[in-house]
Amino acid sequence: MLTRISPDLAPTAAAAQAPAAVVIGAGLGGLAAAMRLGAKGYRVTVVDRLPGPGGRGSALWRGGHRFDLGPTIVTVPQVFRDLWAACGRDFDADVDLRSLDPFYQIRFDDGSQFTARADTAAMQAEVARLSPGDLAGYTRFLRDAEARYGFGFEDLGRRPMHRFADLLAALPRFAALRADRSVHAHVARRVRDPRLRMALSFHPLFIGGDPFHVTSMYVLVNHLEKAFGVHYAIGGVVAIAEAMARVITAQGGQTLYGAEADEILTRNGRTAGVRLTDGTILTAGVVVSNADAGHTYTRLLRRHPRRRWTNRHVDTRRWSMGLFVWYFGTRGTRGLWPDVGHHTIVSGPRYRGLLQDIFIRGRLAPDMSLYVHRPSVTDPSCAPAGDDTFYALSPVPHLGHADAVDWAAEAEPYRARVQAVLEDRLLPGLGAHLTESEVFTPETFRDRYLSPFGSGFSIEPRILQSAWFRPHNISEELPGLFLVGAGTHPGAGLPGVITSAEVLGKLVPAAQPVAR
Ligand SMILES: Cc1cc2nc3c(=O)[nH]c(=O)nc-3n(C[C@H](O)[C@H](O)[C@H](O)COP(=O)(O)OP(=O)(O)OC[C@H]3O[C@@H](n4cnc5c(N)ncnc54)[C@H](O)[C@@H]3O)c2cc1C
Repeated sequence: MLTRISPDLAPTAAAAQAPAAVVIGAGLGGLAAAMRLGAKGYRVTVVDRLPGPGGRGSALWRGGHRFDLGPTIVTVPQVFRDLWAACGRDFDADVDLRSLDPFYQIRFDDGSQFTARADTAAMQAEVARLSPGDLAGYTRFLRDAEARYGFGFEDLGRRPMHRFADLLAALPRFAALRADRSVHAHVARRVRDPRLRMALSFHPLFIGGDPFHVTSMYVLVNHLEKAFGVHYAIGGVVAIAEAMARVITAQGGQTLYGAEADEILTRNGRTAGVRLTDGTILTAGVVVSNADAGHTYTRLLRRHPRRRWTNRHVDTRRWSMGLFVWYFGTRGTRGLWPDVGHHTIVSGPRYRGLLQDIFIRGRLAPDMSLYVHRPSVTDPSCAPAGDDTFYALSPVPHLGHADAVDWAAEAEPYRARVQAVLEDRLLPGLGAHLTESEVFTPETFRDRYLSPFGSGFSIEPRILQSAWFRPHNISEELPGLFLVGAGTHPGAGLPGVITSAEVLGKLVPAAQPVAR
């Protein structure tokens, strides 16, 4: 069988003795998995259909701008430091991470604002400014978030959850923490002001969950921000991905881009390797899929009989929402809009109603809420001198709803609506400064990342789709197959996918040298 290895990345003699592992997908989860496997002694090949590393965390370079395509907020940098340390390296020597303060600003429809900061006293002052009566409830909420962090992130999130017994053992704690309540329901018990309810509950949207339906365990994200800060990697998240790829090469592994996996091969009831769409076969006893879990089972394992993750089971999961992202450059604006920082949320007139349109009714709403990224205020290298690089993100329905949006027809009118909201609420005069412009719709996510229904964050993190209920990190369908990334345990977001590789490291046995 042919194993393709690029000559400039020929493995060291020691690595050549090592058993082979293939990782499908060079998203942050796949790269972290490759690093963990490399540290365990495997000779790792990472394949990705895109031209470079990072997946959703990759970038687009155009007209002197670098557009970070996806993740912009790095929380819990410790998960990266732990990963690097497991490979005998120093994360901070490879990546320049800067902490931001303020974290982000929310602009409400009534003209008021809420600025999230690291300092608890400053946050309390912000809460008191909007709603003095909610101060005591806010302080209680911080304690709630910390308790859920300890259990949900440090305990459950960092260990395998593929055994039903593990789920059963966790149930009493879930019950005590009222994990059956939604994030919004929990927040609503602590604060009354609707603006504060939004400001404390929107975070699940960044991992693809509807705050009115995902488990209140996710209020832990508020604790992550407060305890570990909000950071930006100079060079964008793609700089982290590139640093990961360098570690993999230094370990004796290789990364193949423009290489799409067509099928996971099996022999004697176990994984035997991966066949690429160009016919190349990569033999390996360990295969890790960082492709979406839905794509992994319905496409890559299409000929293998599946007991749980059948096409029907995959199709009937609740999928996270789609995303409409407008990437744009502006000329001569560095001194303009001085009150617009790195991260801004422009909250629309409706919260619950808008989310129902997106997640439940599956229709493109007449109004919108936007997340606006302006990295050029922190990292001027992402734009030509004096210019700015932006993206504006609007959550929209995924493509699996009846009467899915026809984005070929809707993309430009919708982009124009986003621009109108920005001109009205945040960036007056924007149109006169526009230069580069690129739009990603759910159809782009479907075609670029092979994401089922074009969803932004894979399977929605509802309680019955979390932990044991998610596709397991050690496949329940095929021995030798492992899964990492947003669609597996613990879930989406950079801390989630990096941690999924940490869990993988606990499941894959250390490599035994191959006798030759
Ligand atoms: C717009 C946006 C903003 C976000 N903002 C944040 C944020 O600020 N902070 C945060 O923590 N998280 C954020 N997230 C979430 C976070 O980016 C993702 O959860 C995470 O990056 C997903 O990583 P992953 O490992 O699951 O892989 P992905 O990034 O999904 O990568 C999977 C890779 O697999 C490849 N692939 C798929 N199928 C095949 C195949 N058959 N053969 C070869 N390759 C294949 C794809 O090309 C892709 O490169 C954001 C996401 C988006 C989309």
